[in-house]
Amino acid sequence: MTSTSTEPQDTGRQDTERQDLGRQRSGGASTGAAGPAPAWAEPSDTPLALLLLGQGSDPASERGVDCPGELPAASDPGLVARAAAAKAALGDSVFVLGHHYQRDEVIQFADVTGDSFKLAREAAARPQAEHIVFCGVHFMAESADILTGDAQTVILPDLAAGCSMADMAALPQVETAWEVLADAGIADVVVPVTYMNSSADIKGFVGRHGGVVCTSSNAKRALDWAYEQGEKVFFFPDQHLGRNTAVLEMGFTLDDCVLYDPHKPAGGLTAQQLRDAKIILWRGHCSVHGRFSLDSVNDVRARVPEVNVLVHPECRHEVVNAADLIGSTEFIIRTVEAAPGGSAWAIGTELNLVRRLAKAHPDKQIMFLDKTVCYCSTMNRIDLPHLVWSLEELVAGRVANPIRVDPQTAAHARRALDQMLALP
Ligand code: SF4
Repeated sequence: MTSTSTEPQDTGRQDTERQDLGRQRSGGASTGAAGPAPAWAEPSDTPLALLLLGQGSDPASERGVDCPGELPAASDPGLVARAAAAKAALGDSVFVLGHHYQRDEVIQFADVTGDSFKLAREAAARPQAEHIVFCGVHFMAESADILTGDAQTVILPDLAAGCSMADMAALPQVETAWEVLADAGIADVVVPVTYMNSSADIKGFVGRHGGVVCTSSNAKRALDWAYEQGEKVFFFPDQHLGRNTAVLEMGFTLDDCVLYDPHKPAGGLTAQQLRDAKIILWRGHCSVHGRFSLDSVNDVRARVPEVNVLVHPECRHEVVNAADLIGSTEFIIRTVEAAPGGSAWAIGTELNLVRRLAKAHPDKQIMFLDKTVCYCSTMNRIDLPHLVWSLEELVAGRVANPIRVDPQTAAHARRALDQMLALP
């Protein structure tokens, strides 16, 4: 692997938090008092709980399963002290990023928390930090590597921390799909748009083909821009974010959307279907947000009459349609913070974040939208032993698990990221 070829960071970037397009369904959310707030109740375990908690492995879908060094035992009572000591010894040379979906045991050592794009920008804004320890998943560390300077190294404490959604769109599949569009005679009028939650390879593809990256906060603006450049959009890899944005925010109908299945010949679509579509959605989804169902929404409404249902746009269309409010993780956090005491919220996003919000706002009734646990299994792979190990390796002068995007891919991906930063 070679080191990144990215330019020094741009500290004057637009603030995606200001760009957040949190959406409110017609009828509005109920923010009035809902009576005394009961204590937070954990959703129940499922047979998948161990895997969801980051134990066990799935080598077919993750980027690696073995830690190359000696991990401290999870039972070591000195782990917190060891992490604190290593971090203090490293001083400003290390900067620890913590994604909102990370465990509390890891978040306590984060210098900053946020969503994937905010964290990449935070890393880029700290050129003095020689090492960026990214407590998130692989595509996030890649984006941070692309946006940080050549002298900085991004570290992922566990290489098994991939993203099942990002893994659903592989570059050879996307190259093949583009040939299908060319055969249908529409490649020239299609603009590719990829969600931040995609590999550097896919961002590079999109950059090579004149497209743009988007986040869950700015997806509408990215699509508006794309439709100024061409007639149709090919949206990767999250079908739900693409569909929800196109239908709920841009006035398209479900019939304007077609689903390209990379596991079927020609995506399972005819040339005419491709020519008639306004937006071609890649068949990918988030395995965490995809678990919420219309039944979850109906059930919580029956149990808690004045509840406000607040969900992430990675949820399925019928779930988003039934919700009161829709928005990114940053939007969800701000909405809960601004809510009046006593109000009730059923939140459809990753469990670590919902649980943390419940702890931080005991005056509000905050519940998880589903009755069963719904962690991001790969996010949960970053635990305290891995964090301690990666920090102590740095103290010892060794860099464990560096994430480096090859210079050519990084340059193309940077173009698509810069186009996002330039969105009005
Ligand atoms: S929550 Fe979903 S999109 Fe986010 S890292 Fe996990 S699998 Fe990927």
